[in-house]
Amino acid sequence: MAVVQEKELACKAFLSGSPKKLLIGGKWVDAESGKTFETLNPATGEVLAKVAEGSKADIDKAVKAARDAFENGPWRKMSSYERGRLLYKLADAIEAHADEFAQLETLDNGKPIRESRYVDVPQAIETFRYYAGWATKIEGETVNVNPDFFNYTLREPVGVVGQIIPWNFPLLMAAWKLAPALACGNTLILKPAEQTPLSALRLGELACEVGFPEGVINIVTGFGENSAGEALSRHMDVDKIAFTGEDKTGKKILEASTGNLKRVSLELGGKAPNIVFADADIDAAVKGAITGIFFNQGQVCCAGSRLFLEKSIQDEFLTKLKEKAEGLRQGNGMDEKTQIGPQVSKEQQERIMSYIEAGQKEGAKLVCGGERPGGDLAKGYFVKPTVFSGVNNNMKIAQEEIFGPVLSVLNFGSVEEVAEQANKVAFGLSGAVWTKDIKKAHKLASQIKAGTVWVNCYNVFNAAIPFGGYKQSGYGRELGKHAIELYTQIKSVWVDMS
Ligand code: NAP
Ligand code: MG
Repeated sequence: MAVVQEKELACKAFLSGSPKKLLIGGKWVDAESGKTFETLNPATGEVLAKVAEGSKADIDKAVKAARDAFENGPWRKMSSYERGRLLYKLADAIEAHADEFAQLETLDNGKPIRESRYVDVPQAIETFRYYAGWATKIEGETVNVNPDFFNYTLREPVGVVGQIIPWNFPLLMAAWKLAPALACGNTLILKPAEQTPLSALRLGELACEVGFPEGVINIVTGFGENSAGEALSRHMDVDKIAFTGEDKTGKKILEASTGNLKRVSLELGGKAPNIVFADADIDAAVKGAITGIFFNQGQVCCAGSRLFLEKSIQDEFLTKLKEKAEGLRQGNGMDEKTQIGPQVSKEQQERIMSYIEAGQKEGAKLVCGGERPGGDLAKGYFVKPTVFSGVNNNMKIAQEEIFGPVLSVLNFGSVEEVAEQANKVAFGLSGAVWTKDIKKAHKLASQIKAGTVWVNCYNVFNAAIPFGGYKQSGYGRELGKHAIELYTQIKSVWVDMS
């Protein structure tokens, strides 16, 4: 297997500096408890590094450092131009270490190196550059209400921000969180997912190198429930929590936020309808269905996990889909040829297998996959690309987020029917429509209750385009100018002119 050998690894030096520490107040420190945890390579189950296990005491320290940096540090006095410059420098630094980041991401998460290199890392860089530009463009307004008064508004940072992210796009999610928060002048505490802490820690090192003042960016690795994540969301001196992860966790975070009514924005799960009409370019739609569900091993919140096929094309489509799904090269993500890697953890692998079992019990028909691969891959957390046909929208595999490479195929007879079925789900993060009929495309785009709709494409992203959920997929929009709203608050100032 053409796996990069250990001696060639650009991230070798970083990995050898284990155990990795917490970044608090500009210093790398051990957890107060002295505890560490292991992060594993999901392709092999081997330990990659030990990482400090932050908990409440460390969160308390980090919040203090962030508060001090916000109220008293040089950050407060820095011009927006200088803030923007620092973000540009951080983007440049990531770019200069792009190989290293791509390897860290693939080793820690399992995703194919081609995706880390051509998607995660460049999109993270793009996000930092996009918000670097925003730093100098955050404006208030004047409103002419009454000649006796002058009124203007100030758009000010929210303050100390806690950011809790998942493991599916560790570096990119860190970028989506850090870049707008910093552009707006906040200070922050980032809590990466326990499964994938490494790229965020490397990012923290670069942030220190390029000159972010101490305490502006704090990174506390550790666990969520009853630990660092929960302490952050409960903390009385945190002004805002931005969270990406599971809907159930989002609800807990919202409850924990009530103590000081901190602002909360939530990017949660999805169960996206991917709708194909008989008049679509079928080959393009097959490709779209494949990337829609198998990109990142299906561990994508906007994965097209419910494929709706117009009845007349179902057989042809399924034949092509099966052939493509079975043709995907599954293997160690470090292999340049790998198209689908392992799931992030044994826990996720088992969770996905239990959904596959549920699908079979509920009477869905297994078209392909449905098992763990054997041989070389048996020691990693792999699941074969899986397609179920004959799925009914009430089945568990059509309603719950599996977060794995499992596609549920349903069929429909009319536009009205598919619009109704597509929306019969608790989530509303995204959806897609494949057709050559522009009226049908726009009509469905307006009918689908979701924050993103793709027409004749899937998984297209840009730092300038807002992303977020309807319904139980959360609220608040990340990316684009909308994220500026998440990280600022408005003050109106009245001046007597009479
Ligand atoms: P998760 O369990 O919700 O974890 C996400 C983050 O929250 C992790 O850092 C986790 O720490 C932390 N956490 C867990 N319990 C917490 C608590 N009680 N209080 C505070 N923090 C807590 O989700 P996941 O398993 O990492 O990711 C899978 C889910 O995330 C899927 O359902 C997927 O839909 C969703 N997701 C959504 C988006 C989106 O943009 N909408 C993106 C990615 C993933 P630990 O890692 O230590 O548990
Ligand atoms: Mg790992």
